Amino acid sequence: MSTPVVITCAITGSQTRKSMNPAVPITPDEQIESTQAAFEAGATLVHVHVRNADESPSSSPELFARVQEGIDKHCPGMIIQFSTGGRGRDSEARGKPLHLRPDMASLATGSVNFATMIYENDPSLVETLAQTMLDFEIKPEIEVFDLAMLYNARDLLDRGLIKAPLHVQFVMGIKNALPAKRRVLEFLVEELHDILPDATWVAAGVGRHQFEVAQWCAEMGGNIRVGLEDGIRLSKDRLASGNADMVNRAVEICATAGRTVATAEQARELLSLPPARAQ
Ligand code: ZN
Repeated sequence: MSTPVVITCAITGSQTRKSMNPAVPITPDEQIESTQAAFEAGATLVHVHVRNADESPSSSPELFARVQEGIDKHCPGMIIQFSTGGRGRDSEARGKPLHLRPDMASLATGSVNFATMIYENDPSLVETLAQTMLDFEIKPEIEVFDLAMLYNARDLLDRGLIKAPLHVQFVMGIKNALPAKRRVLEFLVEELHDILPDATWVAAGVGRHQFEVAQWCAEMGGNIRVGLEDGIRLSKDRLASGNADMVNRAVEICATAGRTVATAEQARELLSLPPARAQ
């Protein structure tokens, strides 16, 4: 029996705008509704960024709290992951909503160039975010945008700043960072098994690579991430009608690869998370 696939839905992100695809959920109500549809389609982990009314990225704990509350209510057992990503947010603000104790939060373990900017994660910020997650018992998702970040994760583990078993995400297809190539992913997964043998993993393909990378993940025994944060299209000439549309495609990909889709309960078990809080 193969391991069930945890499907992550990255519902909003910090860059996509309604002018690119009107289905991008911006307000908390839109985000909750879009998450519920994705959950009903088979997603069991939601990756959350929040936005201000003008669509600019926000770190507002109030917005995060509203989205968290709505998802808890409408998507029983779904794993909630807050982004601590930096685009458009200053470094101090990035850890601010963690006191809300989401199940997980993203943690990039190094800096990298993106297409037109530096995604800055200096060592002290990485340590501060990791320590805050430890204090609030939040499981980090290690974001690997470049090879060194994988080894940095091992180093954080050795120094007691994160706890095993780790969950690692490889992000592929961002200009100036890792290319979306299957043999690169194969190498990354091989290294992961070598230095962090009990870690679980997922890969995200950005833009036109989204479903190609999802396919590799399904075939290679990993988990899948899709959503309007990573791309706005289902195919070259078709916009996604919403996050659920993309999750439906991920579910089809699992079926073709002979993998089942994890339930919320299974997803928590696979990622070594405690059972959902009773509502
Ligand atoms: Zn994100």
